[in-house]
Amino acid sequence: MSGTSILDRPVQYLKGVGPRRAEALGKLGITRARDLLRHAPHRYLDATTVTPIARLAPGMEGTAIGDVVSKGVIPTRKGLRLFQAVIRDSSGLIECSWPGQPFLDRTIRKGDTLLVAGPVRFFHGRQIQPREFTVLARAGDSADEEGTVFPVYPATANLTHRQIRRIVQENLDGLLAAAEQEESVVSEGLRREHGLATLREALEWLHRPPTLAHAEEARRRLAFEELFVLQVLYARARYENRESRRGVAFERKNSLVGPFSKALPFQLTAAQKKVLAEISKDMSKPQPMNRLLQGDVGSGKTVVAVFAMLRAIENGYQAALMAPTELLAEQHFATIQQLLTELPVRTGLLRGGLKTSERRAVLEEVASGEAQLIIGTHALIQESVEFQRLGLAVIDEQHRFGVRQRMKLRRAGADPDVLVMSATPIPRSLALTFYGDLDISVLDELPPGRRPVRTVLRRASARSRVFEFLRAEVASGRQAYVVYPVIEESETLDVRSATEAFEHLSKEVLADLRVGLIHGRLPSDQKDDIMRLFVCGEIDALVSTTVIEVGIDVPNASVMIVEGAERFGLSQLHQLRGRVGRGGAQSYCIVLYVGAEPPERLAIFASTNDGFEIARADLRLRGYGEFFGAKQHGLPEFTFADLSRDEPLLHAARDAAARIIGTDPLLERREQRALNQALRSEYRERLQLYDVG
Ligand code: ADP
Ligand code: MG
Repeated sequence: MSGTSILDRPVQYLKGVGPRRAEALGKLGITRARDLLRHAPHRYLDATTVTPIARLAPGMEGTAIGDVVSKGVIPTRKGLRLFQAVIRDSSGLIECSWPGQPFLDRTIRKGDTLLVAGPVRFFHGRQIQPREFTVLARAGDSADEEGTVFPVYPATANLTHRQIRRIVQENLDGLLAAAEQEESVVSEGLRREHGLATLREALEWLHRPPTLAHAEEARRRLAFEELFVLQVLYARARYENRESRRGVAFERKNSLVGPFSKALPFQLTAAQKKVLAEISKDMSKPQPMNRLLQGDVGSGKTVVAVFAMLRAIENGYQAALMAPTELLAEQHFATIQQLLTELPVRTGLLRGGLKTSERRAVLEEVASGEAQLIIGTHALIQESVEFQRLGLAVIDEQHRFGVRQRMKLRRAGADPDVLVMSATPIPRSLALTFYGDLDISVLDELPPGRRPVRTVLRRASARSRVFEFLRAEVASGRQAYVVYPVIEESETLDVRSATEAFEHLSKEVLADLRVGLIHGRLPSDQKDDIMRLFVCGEIDALVSTTVIEVGIDVPNASVMIVEGAERFGLSQLHQLRGRVGRGGAQSYCIVLYVGAEPPERLAIFASTNDGFEIARADLRLRGYGEFFGAKQHGLPEFTFADLSRDEPLLHAARDAAARIIGTDPLLERREQRALNQALRSEYRERLQLYDVG
């Protein structure tokens, strides 16, 4: 990449831009010419899919082409001025109306051929309100814009998508010529192997596609690039882990694992056995394990973690288990102590709220090696707790833990093995993108004999009957959750807030029950106090926001009522549902919705208990960014790749990355020069994080 390429020039100096437009483009993240070249249209208008004007019917979204037969600016009673044009094709006439855009009178001329797209309404006759339009041909002139497929760009204040299109089109040939001079991150061999367009073709078809199929080819090529560069980064991180880190090769001594296995009151599921074999193989290698264990709620991850920790301990090392909250750490501690009653393993719980002297005592046991299995929150590694010989760290992740913290586990001496557990099933494409530096194990089977939670959708108007049901369950000794999406009355959201609902439920509807309230704005020790009351049965019905989403285990709770379900994502609903059905009793998840029919999302939710299926639907419906509540997690963002449908492309990119790093780990070969550079500029920070840079 030479600094003198026109692609590196500020966008301001391009034809038709200038300082004011450059500023507007800057708001779209376009500062240099090369950014403009990769500014992705979010849609295309396809003139080959037009509807004859006579067949445009009110209520439909239509695309039409016609010649302007009359036009003018019309004042409305509200003082708004609107521009109208009547267009005609061989089948008929229709009025086009642009409220508030009188200036179009200067853009659109009588005799022009227009492509318009927008909703068709009935308003003194049929009318279309174009969301988008293009002047295909000027009156009596040659074509203004060529082709039949028109990109529609994300626009911004002071710059319409049409102005952006014009800027792109005016500069495209020059920019493409410059782009052709540059090396691509996808080598020629790789490009051919995957039948990808050349970079020049891709960039041209992105902005000036002869057909929609070409636009898709362009997207596919550019998406491959995005996925590929990230996968190369991951392949490098894995390579570094393999080559230059020292871990512990744990032996299968079975002095603890054997007795533990014999004493277990149940048979492991086939999935648990498979996953344990994978973990065991990793642990026996001299490189540190870096593995993600994914499994739906209740799939039995804890037992798997205990097996792994015992293997470390029987080899003379310590193992640590880190939970996202104090309460969960306590729960893990109680569960694990019970599982280990017969075994000579010294456990320790490092929780908040310990007296200084107690805390110091625990820390000393950890530092001396006396404590072998240590449970705590993520603070265990965030504050530098000294371990005598940490061999394995299990991280119960719940989406809160990033690469950065995982990396903190690297210590002087041998690196501990790391097992990350996630209870939020995510589609494989997301796992490979978010956890691409880890190996992945999946628990895709629940222990036998579980009674699936029965999910029912009820109209909000049936609320009083739903609460009668809750009361009946409590009368037979059960407990219930009632979940609301927000905690305070909001003028914009028409949802009942948890606080308000709590007042109402505890004083009226459920006045005879013990009702508790928990929400995210309470201090965490208060939250834990309330949860403890619920755990030991002192609260019958717990009104809450989504704070209970995170792994709490109250087997006696059999009812989950979700209010305002429109506001929850599918995966979130599934996590909520996982709070019930943990004991022997039949459990219920009752979702209240507003309106005549439940939305598609809720129908999907009620139709399956499979977390992975739900996650796939969620990704498809909401998209990648929303799915994870993404940005704050530092997830890679994509312009072109769509993880809900690009999984095959992702696998291709991953395989290619593994092959390249396998033969040329430092990317020293001539044909990988651009790739090396891209990695250093786009992922510099991550490279450093993985110690790859
Ligand atoms: P999660 O994957 O949600 O962390 P847990 O590890 O908490 O699941 O397991 C849920 C429950 O299932 C626990 O009570 C655990 O003892 C039990 N369990 C785990 N594995 C099995 C199995 N193979 N057979 C029967 N019960 C099991
Ligand atoms: Mg668990």
